[in-house]
Amino acid sequence: MICHASTKVTNERKAGAKQHIYKMINEFYPIAAISTPYGRGGIAVIRMSGSGSIEAADKFFVPKSKKKVSELEPNTAVYGDILNDGEVIDTGIITVFRAPRSYTGEDTVEISCHGGITLARSVLESAYICGCRPAGAGEFTKRAFINGKLSLSQAEAVAGLIDARSKEALKLSSAQSRGILSRKIKLLSDDITMLLASVYAGIDYPDEDLAELSTAQLKAQAEDIYNELVRLSDTYRSGKAVCEGIPAVIIGRPNTGKSSLMNALLGEDRAIVTDAAGTTRDTIEETLTVGKVLLRLCDTAGLRNTNDKIEKIGIEKAREKLFDAELILAVFDGSSKALCEDMDIISELSEIKKNGSAEIIPLISKCDLAPKGESGTEERFAPELVAELGEPIYFSSVTGEGTELIIKRISELFVSGDINYSEDAIISNARQYASICEARDHVRNALSAIDMGLAQDIAGLDLETALSRLSELDGRQTASDITDKIFASFCVGK
Ligand code: GDP
Repeated sequence: MICHASTKVTNERKAGAKQHIYKMINEFYPIAAISTPYGRGGIAVIRMSGSGSIEAADKFFVPKSKKKVSELEPNTAVYGDILNDGEVIDTGIITVFRAPRSYTGEDTVEISCHGGITLARSVLESAYICGCRPAGAGEFTKRAFINGKLSLSQAEAVAGLIDARSKEALKLSSAQSRGILSRKIKLLSDDITMLLASVYAGIDYPDEDLAELSTAQLKAQAEDIYNELVRLSDTYRSGKAVCEGIPAVIIGRPNTGKSSLMNALLGEDRAIVTDAAGTTRDTIEETLTVGKVLLRLCDTAGLRNTNDKIEKIGIEKAREKLFDAELILAVFDGSSKALCEDMDIISELSEIKKNGSAEIIPLISKCDLAPKGESGTEERFAPELVAELGEPIYFSSVTGEGTELIIKRISELFVSGDINYSEDAIISNARQYASICEARDHVRNALSAIDMGLAQDIAGLDLETALSRLSELDGRQTASDITDKIFASFCVGK
């Protein structure tokens, strides 16, 4: 047994040492990747970064001036021949950046060549032959983060700029990449640090007349910080709405016009529309921008009792989606009488509304067929709907009536009217939100400790934890497995 245990320890050590050596080798070599999208195009850019990248480029790029790449002025672009295996394969532009004045903070070279697939790959191959290794996903940005060129929220914003699906998402990512959120986090961290300094000065040097705060002053300052953290955490609703997207579901009994609504919002025929009930047996998911809001919208099989085995599975899936949704578009057929199934759905949704897990927009479809009024839809549906789910929107997927109103209602629900995506510090992803909520909750605990008349150092402990959660948010104290995960979601070459 003892022998086995020691063998295990030795193997673990060997594996650890191997990993360490691989890591050192990885950090030692400059990295290279094609930074433009894969495919044919006007130009392709091959990027190389790290100590030795300029020397590597020297071996396969010959400036027309006959100067060596390593002799070029930094931040200059120069025209020249690109070689592969000693032969000129293209002419292009090389831009040289010297550390620390580059995106990554390291020596960096960017070569623009013509955008052929084989051509770009051959230039990349030259970079490998001349001493570079392939870059991992997001490795250029990760190096920028490690070298202090970007905070973590700025690095995430770079991914946001690339992935932006709307003008608002672009504005938010641009503001975040310029450090607006980072600066806000720093201000809050500085405020907590000042508060902690006063608390601990009073505790550590009770006889000195240091800046010990009165309980009232401590409380007032902690309250200011708490209110700011609440304000910041509240921005996540608007940030999520444009960046991550809102999980949404279209629900209703079969044939009410759910798929037609999905197609109308998408602006294309994605879901099959027929007058046979139960056509949509599976869930169809699409990501689309509705007004300012990014929806991860799911069209479901209608909710009803059925003996059809396949439809039953679809209805089960619809229920799962209903459970996960943060927005429910509940469709009722305005051209037919309200059925028991409609009433069942209304009472099921009214439970969801009560526990507040999702926003619900009641919709009455096919308003082109059934005019509102005395014997129309308003009379048949409105009392139950309004009582349980609120005022419905009447719409028609055929004429387009009401669609704008639906879009407006969705925007109003998820995007705060006074948010400015270009200028405000906004929380835009679940990771940032988790950190800000923890920081907020620890400051609230500190306030409770003060209110209960506990010693100031008890509040100090919570303030310290709040501070470290803010450090995690912007990367100053983030565990490496979390940063690895963040950068793994980038594309290679970024
Ligand atoms: P789902 O089963 O709830 O997804 O309903 P569908 O979208 O497949 O629509 C069922 C039937 O109603 C189809 O024949 C559609 O053409 C029709 N329909 C849907 N929306 C409208 C509408 O706004 N006006 C009219 N006149 N017909 C509609």
